[in-house]
Amino acid sequence: DLTKPWFKHYPEEVPKTMEYDNRPLHGLLMDAAENYPDKVAIHFMGKELTYQEVYDSAKKFASYLQGLGLEKGDRVAIMLPNSPQSVISYYGALLAGGIVVQTNPLYTERELEYQMKDSGAKFLVCLDILLPRANNVKGETNLEHLIVTGIKDYLPFPKNLVYPFIQKREYNMVVKPEHAGDTHVWTKMLEEASGNVTMHEFDPEEDLALLQYTGGTTGYPKGVMLTHHNLVSNTQMSKAWIYKAEYGKETVLGILPFFHVYGMTAVMNLSIMMAQKMVLVPKFDVDTVLKLIEKEKPTLFPGAPTIYIGLLNHPKIQKYDLSSIEACLSGSAPLPVEVQQNFEKVTGGKLVEGYGLTESSPVTHSNLIYDDRRAGTIGIPWPDTDSKIFKPDTLEEMPVGEVGEVAVKGPQIMKGYWNRPEETENTLKDGWLLTGDMGYMNEDGYFYIVDRKKDMIIAGGFNIYPREVEEVLYEHEAIAETVVAGIPDPYRGETVKAYIVLKDGAQLTEEELDQYCRENLAAFKVPKLYEFREELPKTAVGKILRRKLVDEEKEKMEQE
Ligand code: AMP
Repeated sequence: DLTKPWFKHYPEEVPKTMEYDNRPLHGLLMDAAENYPDKVAIHFMGKELTYQEVYDSAKKFASYLQGLGLEKGDRVAIMLPNSPQSVISYYGALLAGGIVVQTNPLYTERELEYQMKDSGAKFLVCLDILLPRANNVKGETNLEHLIVTGIKDYLPFPKNLVYPFIQKREYNMVVKPEHAGDTHVWTKMLEEASGNVTMHEFDPEEDLALLQYTGGTTGYPKGVMLTHHNLVSNTQMSKAWIYKAEYGKETVLGILPFFHVYGMTAVMNLSIMMAQKMVLVPKFDVDTVLKLIEKEKPTLFPGAPTIYIGLLNHPKIQKYDLSSIEACLSGSAPLPVEVQQNFEKVTGGKLVEGYGLTESSPVTHSNLIYDDRRAGTIGIPWPDTDSKIFKPDTLEEMPVGEVGEVAVKGPQIMKGYWNRPEETENTLKDGWLLTGDMGYMNEDGYFYIVDRKKDMIIAGGFNIYPREVEEVLYEHEAIAETVVAGIPDPYRGETVKAYIVLKDGAQLTEEELDQYCRENLAAFKVPKLYEFREELPKTAVGKILRRKLVDEEKEKMEQE
């Protein structure tokens, strides 16, 4: 339906509808290796690998897994930070016919065990220092083989010799895995593997590429089933959206973790589709990243608000040359307008906000990158993506401008939740994915997220969206980071509490802050409580864990 109000904003270069390649996701790497074999695919702490090298290693990994008995549809879990191994094992597992299960390297034993049991993974690729954790859960799960690798495996000389000492200092741990029995050492695996892969037939619309776990911040994690077609189509849409990016010419900063759906699509898969160079950052550290930008000169930098905030708050950011950056897509949480403007000033590039979720591979909306951009909105739906605002828990459309639940439809929408038919039924209705986010569309076809359905605060009968209060707080010059939450209150049901991290060297009293909020917010929205902190708890992509703060608060109350 090309009469939708957002299509009038599409620049000529972006198609409203497209043909999607009917092929498995690993076809992206096969194409890149064929068309750009000598282009650098990965830059990792000084070491570079070409597309041919990445593909050859992925084939070796695939043939090795097949040698261990992998059959089509078997689950292969990957528990690695961004590294050559994370890309190679992801594509290798797909080439072999496996389904990738992405695992956060920060998972505790309990979380890992839950995910391994739920997914039924037979293989797990993990970092050497995570081996003790993997071994401890192995007996309780279907895991048959562990493949172990170290950061040092891809470091240039002499960094590879020094790294184990750094690891010892940082993690107080030295692990020397043995290549024997069901433990396989990466470097030996590459030596032994033939690279001859038995290629399977794929039905891209039916066959799963990925079980991507989500819900960790809000409820129990569920495995989102994403097909090859879901992922290929969302990657093609991304490519259409950044139409000025050229094949084989861009350098992409890979800070977002690839084990999260956003980094996976917006950095890894998109870069491989376009044969770009990925500069990998295994661990976010502001100093290292600023230096890396100056040295490697990335042109594209997909990120999340907290990443941009972290960089902006560096006291010496002005000293670095960040002018290579042309375009940044911010997602996964609301982007404060202040942050957008300041970051654009510092880099001279564009920073635009987009929106998506695991269940949609993930991107469904975003602002135009090179054209008319609007602050404070998630933008407009992507090609072939439809979006409506429904009255919550129904399929009844809300009038333009009124808040309801955001729903999306398109080729990137998941097949369902792994082994959870009931939850699938509640979330996928008539082809519409009910996102659980509250928002509205304006006359012009632009979408706004007001908050998560579950995060809305109801205090004394008033509805308060934390985001609105946060926007005001972010405008205060002393505040580096903030999150607003509703905490239980015996009289008002809930009460508004603001957690504040001040900028380095800044001073602000509770009274001053309260005064400021009163001047800028309706009385019922003004936080009743403030807490100053050194930092806020966050997920791997930097989403602030509002729930965790609320839970802490509840625990404190129970103890009192
Ligand atoms: P995940 O599945 O971990 O990617 O989380 C998806 C959720 O992140 C969405 O349902 C939203 O609640 C939130 N989110 C993503 N992008 C934005 C955005 N631009 N503004 C507000 N919330 C967002």
